[in-house]
Amino acid sequence: FLEIHDVHKSYGEHEVLRGVSLEVAKHEVVCLIGASGSGKSTLLRCINALEPIQSGEIRVAGDVVSGLGVDVNRLRRNVGMVFQSYNLFPHMSVLRNVTLAPVRVGGRSRAEAEEQALALLDRVGMKDKAGAYPDALSGGQQQRVAIVRALASDPQVLLLDEITAALDPELVGDVLAIVRELAQDGLTMLLATHEMGFARDVASQVCFLHEGRILERGTPAQIFEDPQEDRTRQFLARVL
Ligand code: ATP
Ligand code: MG
Repeated sequence: FLEIHDVHKSYGEHEVLRGVSLEVAKHEVVCLIGASGSGKSTLLRCINALEPIQSGEIRVAGDVVSGLGVDVNRLRRNVGMVFQSYNLFPHMSVLRNVTLAPVRVGGRSRAEAEEQALALLDRVGMKDKAGAYPDALSGGQQQRVAIVRALASDPQVLLLDEITAALDPELVGDVLAIVRELAQDGLTMLLATHEMGFARDVASQVCFLHEGRILERGTPAQIFEDPQEDRTRQFLARVL
């Protein structure tokens, strides 16, 4: 469903992705783990065409999304992304943040977009904050709004990059609970995380990224309990 084939990505001389291949089937939740700098964020940004790639191919639902001539608006409708730093528009209310893309890009009427936005906000316990501005919300609340904003375009795939990394520990649980619920609903997700417990809990597959390559992939049980590669073992020994 999401197909990544032999992707190479460099910043100048520095090759950050060195031939990454990965498939994510529909309804699957794949977690990317790996040391800082291993290329997790870069891979997610390439999938959403925030970064160009040097070679290889990325397909979402059969459409090639890498390379020139890609319809970025169409891609971003199909692929939602949530970042560590929420990235909400500070000068817009919660409701406007969520309805902006569906109205501007998705061609929905404002009334229809607002109705859907309020239903999604209700699901994450944020309906009463629809009129608030981001700076009046806690980090966990902002992140819940950011997830709703990504969902409002009805994406086929959701990319999540360390979405709990900036949160106070007591706020992490709420956000992870939402992701867990989305996984149960069958949303296809690819997420980078440092939360190994969460990866073990929510992932159907875990990929260990090392220096721009996927060294090992398997079920959470295979990766966490019976890793095959020394590098994976060393990484897990440091983080678990
Ligand atoms: P972390 O766990 O810390 O988030 P990561 O696995 O997400 O790490 P990336 O952010 O993908 O790692 O970075 C991979 C490498 O690419 C790093 O060496 C980083 O310095 C480099 N890099 C990332 N973005 C850029 C950029 N815009 N320009 C130059 N180098 C970059
Ligand atoms: Mg990162």
